[in-house]
Amino acid sequence: MPAIILSIGDELTLGQTVDTNSAWVSAQLAGHGITTQAHQTVADDKRAIEQAIRWACSEADLVIISGGIGPTEDDLTRFALADAMGVGLVEHAGAMRTLEDFFRGRGRPMPEKNRVQAMLPQGATLIPNANGTAPGMRCRVGRAEVFVVPGVPREMRPMVIETILPATAALNGSGQTILTAKINTFGAGESTVAERLGDLMDRQRNPVVGTTVSDGIVSVRVRAEYADNAEAGRACEATCATVESALGPIVFGRNEQTLQQAVVELLRERGQTVATAESCTGGLIGAMLTEVPGSSAAYAGGWVTYSNDMKMKQLGVDAGTLAAEGAVSEAVVKALASGALERSGATLAIAVSGIAGPDGGTADKPVGTVWFALARREGQAVHTE
Ligand code: AMP
Ligand code: MG
Repeated sequence: MPAIILSIGDELTLGQTVDTNSAWVSAQLAGHGITTQAHQTVADDKRAIEQAIRWACSEADLVIISGGIGPTEDDLTRFALADAMGVGLVEHAGAMRTLEDFFRGRGRPMPEKNRVQAMLPQGATLIPNANGTAPGMRCRVGRAEVFVVPGVPREMRPMVIETILPATAALNGSGQTILTAKINTFGAGESTVAERLGDLMDRQRNPVVGTTVSDGIVSVRVRAEYADNAEAGRACEATCATVESALGPIVFGRNEQTLQQAVVELLRERGQTVATAESCTGGLIGAMLTEVPGSSAAYAGGWVTYSNDMKMKQLGVDAGTLAAEGAVSEAVVKALASGALERSGATLAIAVSGIAGPDGGTADKPVGTVWFALARREGQAVHTE
């Protein structure tokens, strides 16, 4: 059951607001085994919205539209939808009562303009909105099931979770069970991962295997589609295990597990703690680690030593080494790591020093040169990239 997602709003097509709704909805659908065929962003223009709805409904079985159902002149989605369906708008008594209750509850009279929010294309049903005045709607256009929700993410998300996802599960009438899993890796590029996966990535394979990259993490997506639920589960697990053994130590977790969670978990298991000495990352590593619940058992603390002066004063880096080698050098990053190890009492310390740009690069140290050091009680490993 492929889906098409439409996002409506001038703010989106003008580039003032980034369309995060489509990405979020697609991720939710993917989690329920539904593939998104396309995203389309459309301005607040009735004809353009109608055209997009007609196109989406001729291509997909499931169409989810967000935005354009507010009470103002530029909210045109309901009119465009009625046109695409070839019907008129009718007042929905339940929706009108909910709207009136909403305003009564806030002790305010309902502006006349809001009445339009209780108007639905004939034949459409209502999707309740617990967080705002615009109810959503559901209807059929040709073979497509269409859901319309408000653009405001805080209102849209609960409606998708509470109403649309359960409805799509019932709609997925193929009788097939679709299970998905994600194996997360760090430390190799996407093409290297693909090379190691080889035939596993054949598009005809079931479960099908694909890759995605985000923030340096390469994730391997597994999608199993079988008539039998237990068989889908077995096949999905078997493919995950094959992927994990093909990729080896670069695998750090499955599904929603993040790199920082995996790091904190490993440290806790081993009874180790880490300290950080950051220059070019300005505290980002510390921020990533402390975002994990329970990180206090694994993260000792850290320094952001941006200037040379701070590197010397806070972590005891030698002035001569700094002058001779520069702040972005093997010797300095090692000194930062050992300084952090000594002063923190942690069992491990990591240090990063690099040239983040846009300026500051030289011929032998171009922008992007980063030195990493790991200090542990028995010694130091250093790596540059
Ligand atoms: P609307 O439902 O069209 O009145 O949208 C109200 C507000 O929700 C807009 O001003 C945006 O800030 C936000 N919004 C609408 N559509 C999106 C979208 N696709 N992604 C992110 N934010 C959105
Ligand atoms: Mg709008």
